[in-house]
Amino acid sequence: MGDAKPFAKCPVCNKKYTSAKITPLTEDETRSTMHVSCPSCGVSSILFVSANQWGVASVGILTDLEEEEVKRHFGKEVVSVDSALDAYVFLKECGGKAEKLL
Ligand SMILES: [Zn+2]
Repeated sequence: MGDAKPFAKCPVCNKKYTSAKITPLTEDETRSTMHVSCPSCGVSSILFVSANQWGVASVGILTDLEEEEVKRHFGKEVVSVDSALDAYVFLKECGGKAEKLL
């Protein structure tokens, strides 16, 4: 996968993660998951990065977990990037519905 830092930016302050502390969680040829602490605002997120023929796409999910906790979580269960992305889409859809209900 190589270095995802140049492609990712913080979902909160929008700063690029060029100097962020990154902890890799899972990685294969086309996708990787990592825990990132933003050096600008201090917010942690889990970053899903996937590469295809068009380039690299990244999705960040905010988390309260420290990298050690996340690592433990990812070590205990086999969490595939697909299921994590499904969860993200699900949460996003729920969020959209909740907004409409309000
Ligand atoms: Zn930030």
